[in-house]
Amino acid sequence: MTRRATVQCDECGSPFFRDSSTMTGLCAECAHVLYGYPPCVHAFDDVGVCNLCGWNQSRSTYIATLLDERAK
Ligand SMILES: [Zn+2]
Ligand SMILES: [Zn+2]
Repeated sequence: MTRRATVQCDECGSPFFRDSSTMTGLCAECAHVLYGYPPCVHAFDDVGVCNLCGWNQSRSTYIATLLDERAK
């Protein structure tokens, strides 16, 4: 397995692969929710970490609130 550069998302705090997100400092998930960038299709492994983007399904309170508002 090739080791990919991992950085931490400023928003949700999850580690993610730097090359998986359009935005520096934001994981693909947060960049999608906040700025409408194309989302990762996510392929979660046994411990709930995405093999494609590295996101561990963390949500900041802000993101959770946004998603909650949109679901109404
Ligand atoms: Zn994030
Ligand atoms: Zn993903």
